[in-house]
Amino acid sequence: MRLKMPQKLLKTAHYIELGSYQHWPVLLPQRIRLYTYEQAPLFLRENPYITDGYRAHLPSKLCLKSIFILSNETVNIWSHLLGFLLFFFMGVNDLSSLLPASRANREDYVIYAIGLFCFQVCMLCSVGYHLFSCHRSEKTCMRWLALDYAGISVGILGCYVPGIFYAFYCNAFWRQVYLLTVLSMILAVFCAQVHPSYLSNDWKVIRMTIFSCVAGIGVIPALHWVWLNGGLTSDIVQLFFPRVIVMYLIAGSAFLFYITKIPERYFPGQVNYLGASHQLWHILVVFMFYWWHQTAVHIMHFRHSQPCPTWSRKS
Ligand SMILES: [Zn+2]
Repeated sequence: MRLKMPQKLLKTAHYIELGSYQHWPVLLPQRIRLYTYEQAPLFLRENPYITDGYRAHLPSKLCLKSIFILSNETVNIWSHLLGFLLFFFMGVNDLSSLLPASRANREDYVIYAIGLFCFQVCMLCSVGYHLFSCHRSEKTCMRWLALDYAGISVGILGCYVPGIFYAFYCNAFWRQVYLLTVLSMILAVFCAQVHPSYLSNDWKVIRMTIFSCVAGIGVIPALHWVWLNGGLTSDIVQLFFPRVIVMYLIAGSAFLFYITKIPERYFPGQVNYLGASHQLWHILVVFMFYWWHQTAVHIMHFRHSQPCPTWSRKS
């Protein structure tokens, strides 16, 4: 087959292993071949409602170049790549203008840096997975998938750290208790991810349960914070509790799209490239992180302008 091809085409073609086809010419960058669900390798067949647009069997270089072609991963890649840039520039803005203007102390700088760094790590791990899930080696794809999951844990950590720090600003004891609890919880999730079965389909439910627990357990410090601050009628609770509710609503709807595979479940093959549940999940995650960062800004301003009550002890 190779010998019969025109010389000009040979120069621009890249030959890759393709299952039963021995060599398949792939032209760069627009001519990377896309596969249907049935043609895609088994480990990529995770969502039968996405019927086409799969990249597969590519070497690293072509995985990278495939960022510029329209596949069923394009929106997934770009949404979190732009999300990464958003949090990177927000970090630059925080450290160079927002925090100095708010007369922030060293602790504020550390907390903001940790939060936004976690968000950026989460975005990049996700970009990496969606970019390299088409790699010809299944082992490489699985490593990126593990990193994507690890990135979600880091992202959740990035929400907890500023949330707990400012919620328990006036109560050093509980602040330390909750920060340590969250850190050990995330560490435990990392340990679970090392388990050889963690990425298998059999563990799908366990994976989802772990993530919902890690995110949902935040309800405990939230309610404790309401109680410590004098209940639902107190000023600070009235100001910030609705923001916490909105945060959980965004997280809940993001997770719902993720597990239910809506809307493609009702329109199989119609939203392969645009509008699929995973894309909605990605966009909602970016929005959730952004919302939580803005909440941290508000509560920091509140705490800087209103001294801690006399019953509390600020560390
Ligand atoms: Zn994703």
